Amino acid sequence: MAKVPSVIHWFRLDLRIHDNLALRNAINEVRQAENRKHFLRPVYVIEPDIKNKVGENRLRFLIQSLQDLDSNLRKLNTRLFILRGTATELLPKLFDKWQVKHLTSQLDIDRDIVLQDEVIDEVAEKKDIFIVRRVQHTVYDVHSVLKKNNGAVPLTYQKFLSLVTGIQVKDTIEITKALSDNCKPPDFDSKDYDVPSLEDLGLDESALNPCKYPGGETEGLNRLNMYMAKKQWVCKFEKPNTSPNSIEPSTTVLSPYISHGCLSAKLFYHKLKEVENGASTHSQPPVSLMGQLMWREFYYTAGAGTKNFDKMVGNPVCTQIPWGKNDEHLKAWAEGQTGYPFVDAIMRQLKQEGWIHHLARHMVACFLTRGDLWISWEEGAKVFEDYLLDYDWSLNAGNWMWLSASAFFYKYFRVYSPVAFGKKTDKEGLFIRKYVPELKKYPTEYIYEPWKAPKSVQTTAGCVLGVDYPKRIVDHDKIHKENMQKMSAAYKLNKEKKAMKRPHT
Ligand SMILES: Cc1cc2nc3c(=O)[nH]c(=O)nc-3n(C[C@H](O)[C@H](O)[C@H](O)COP(=O)(O)OP(=O)(O)OC[C@H]3O[C@@H](n4cnc5c(N)ncnc54)[C@H](O)[C@@H]3O)c2cc1C
Repeated sequence: MAKVPSVIHWFRLDLRIHDNLALRNAINEVRQAENRKHFLRPVYVIEPDIKNKVGENRLRFLIQSLQDLDSNLRKLNTRLFILRGTATELLPKLFDKWQVKHLTSQLDIDRDIVLQDEVIDEVAEKKDIFIVRRVQHTVYDVHSVLKKNNGAVPLTYQKFLSLVTGIQVKDTIEITKALSDNCKPPDFDSKDYDVPSLEDLGLDESALNPCKYPGGETEGLNRLNMYMAKKQWVCKFEKPNTSPNSIEPSTTVLSPYISHGCLSAKLFYHKLKEVENGASTHSQPPVSLMGQLMWREFYYTAGAGTKNFDKMVGNPVCTQIPWGKNDEHLKAWAEGQTGYPFVDAIMRQLKQEGWIHHLARHMVACFLTRGDLWISWEEGAKVFEDYLLDYDWSLNAGNWMWLSASAFFYKYFRVYSPVAFGKKTDKEGLFIRKYVPELKKYPTEYIYEPWKAPKSVQTTAGCVLGVDYPKRIVDHDKIHKENMQKMSAAYKLNKEKKAMKRPHT
């Protein structure tokens, strides 16, 4: 008997059913071929080195998202097939075993995904497999935006906005009609394809921090709807007026859902438009919520059009800066042990909960790089990749370059003070008391600067510096001025090098 051909939808950063054009393509292909019978296999590949690449909190978020995706797919009378192995080795074998004729997936710019796609394309061509990739991770097709700018990367937000003004954003789509049993392959009920538990992946879930932001499409949609119902809040939203150190987040925390594709950026866009169109006035980009979403589009466009976007060397938009190396300082920063309570509280919140406010990211990124420690933004980006639930290849690199004044932002003389910045929105230091409990009993006047507290105060508060909490690893007042000089010199050298490269007229 002739084997029944299969259609694969390969889920990666599109862990959702709603507004999933590529999944709809796969389903349509199976439906159209129903009288000839085709099997549908929605797959997700868990790579063997996942534990080295994805931090614990993000791995939990991913597994929760996969469980939710599987349950949403089952409502359509199909399921998620989890495959374990290296995608570029495993999929070609399955192409033969499953008689794959058609493969659909989301078009992404993440470098790992681009590299995988290159390999798969080559195999598919040889095996005569039809591949469909759809733009659905961003509001705009960033490659078309680049084309509109003659292939050049828009280096400012305003330039980017001018390029997308007038582009009609298509409506989102829904997939609601269940598939027939004909689409189920014979091994449909095999447990081998079930979503693994964290234990299966070698993680002890009970040892993890409490889960503050559970993963999944259902959670993402609920969170979006909850915020969109607060119309006044949305219309008045101005990012600089939100707080980096409130105990509960002052922004939406939709980022982990958007990054994993549990939530469609296009749906977010249309919901925001709906709220804005129904209001007499609302805030505007760059500070509005729509403006935040446009920052994402901006960095995606820059990431798509720039070689080596996540590196300094070989990256044409990145200023070359002779960063230093200091593993001890890097470790102290990553573990929240710098002796600067505001910086440490942020880094500990990041490690525990997987999300920190944008301005908190500003604070710690500036501190690590041009502000205090003079360590490369690439090192900071790696730590963020490990800890962030919302880790995103282009947003992480783009924002790190911004904060280190390596690209997009050039006012390197504007340095965040690890003492004054946090005080603006949290005079009492409640945020520090929560995340750096050693300092919980410190009098308010010393909570941001414990090194100023007399020994007797330290003893009474139960936290002696150098014993219970580290002494500060650098003196900000002194070091940030020295670093500013180094930035100035680096800028000068880059300018001279650029001038030398320019052809003489
Ligand atoms: C050093 C550094 C690294 C960062 N790394 C990441 C990352 O890996 N992944 C990530 O999603 N964001 C990253 N950001 C951007 C930003 O901090 C987060 O997107 C934002 O804080 C997420 O919280 P939210 O969902 O509550 O944002 P909101 O203020 O509610 O904004 C809504 C959405 O807009 C987008 N957005 C908001 N701010 C930005 C921004 N500055 N750049 C791009 N998109 C934005 C996000 O998708 C966000 O979910 C980084 C920022 C810095 C300074």
